[in-house]
Amino acid sequence: MKTIGLLGGMSWESTIGYYRLLNEGVRDRLGGLHSCKLIMNSVDFFEYEALMRKGDWDSIGSELSKAAQSVEAGGADVLLIGTNTMHIVADKIQAAVDIPLLHMADAIAASAAKLDVNKLGLLGTAFTMEKDFLTRPLLEKHGLDVVVPKREARDFIHQTIFSELCCGKLEDCTRDGYLNVIAELVDEGAEAIVLGCTEIGLLVRPQDVDVPLIDTVQAHVDAALEVALA
Ligand code: GLU
Repeated sequence: MKTIGLLGGMSWESTIGYYRLLNEGVRDRLGGLHSCKLIMNSVDFFEYEALMRKGDWDSIGSELSKAAQSVEAGGADVLLIGTNTMHIVADKIQAAVDIPLLHMADAIAASAAKLDVNKLGLLGTAFTMEKDFLTRPLLEKHGLDVVVPKREARDFIHQTIFSELCCGKLEDCTRDGYLNVIAELVDEGAEAIVLGCTEIGLLVRPQDVDVPLIDTVQAHVDAALEVALA
């Protein structure tokens, strides 16, 4: 089994999900007392949120590159950035280490292929929905079309990610708001919805919707285990 390196804490609410799913995945595949070989560097998200608000992606890239190097020095064979948004600086982080980075876009595409869908609705932070660091590789590398919510819905989702989901607050009225946005994306032709923020799967569950969901924590874990257990 290879050792997985994880940049966590963004937010820790979703890093718990990575830890649980990685270990459950290894147990399910290998059985018995097997568990995941994992090196994690879990950061203080407060510092990163402040840098994001300032648009200081250079500092974020430098700090996460150092975190990635510490994970590599600790013996990791492959690297996961345990958040969609921080893939903005994925190239810089990859350039700082020798181990391969398992990019979230590739993990999403692998899940879309299993579902046999071509058009995805994408929910995430404003950075994820409005910049092209996920949508471009999904289209150019994997041929997947992506639709995102309208302006007002994007603001609602972005704001509730930081003020509620990353703080562990799961409110029924917020879930209802997300379900309305998902219904709009389905009306626009989305065949599956990408929960492109690692906390959204804590709020919106498969039983809440009729459309298939691609939870990026599960997709990323599946991609990592394929490599780690190959
Ligand atoms: N975990 C979130 C994501 O997947 C948002 C937090 C962050 O900005 O990293 O995008």
